Amino acid sequence: MSTDKQDLGDMGEKLVAERCACPKCKRTRTLKCLPKNFKCADVICDFCGYLAQVKTASSDCLDVIPNRVLGAAWGPQKERMNASIFFPLFLVLSTNQKKSGCAIYYLSADLQTADIYVPRKPLGPHAKRSGWQGFIYDVSEIKDRFVRLI
Ligand SMILES: [Zn+2]
Repeated sequence: MSTDKQDLGDMGEKLVAERCACPKCKRTRTLKCLPKNFKCADVICDFCGYLAQVKTASSDCLDVIPNRVLGAAWGPQKERMNASIFFPLFLVLSTNQKKSGCAIYYLSADLQTADIYVPRKPLGPHAKRSGWQGFIYDVSEIKDRFVRLI
């Protein structure tokens, strides 16, 4: 059974695929959701191969980007940054967990810096995934680089 957080993430990815044109080739309805275990990206354009990450966060106000958004696994992200690889980010804000109450913001890869990716403490010995380390996006200093799409 999936958790509420996973459901929210799935909803955000589907919303991006349904409503957003591909930022690279400009076609509509070509963005497709990638499988859950696909590590580096969440959506791909099935015309031009463009890749992006999608993050979805609960929010009380769709006009305000939160300072911090929960990311994913730190290890692969760090390795990617060491190789100077960044992926564009769609940030979906949701007030009511439904598609009707959402905003979609976009942050291009070119405008990302390494210091928005902040490692979290590894999970403790009693956690289900003990030792696993995640990261958060701290976008508090770069909110003006996002573009609101929807
Ligand atoms: Zn495309």
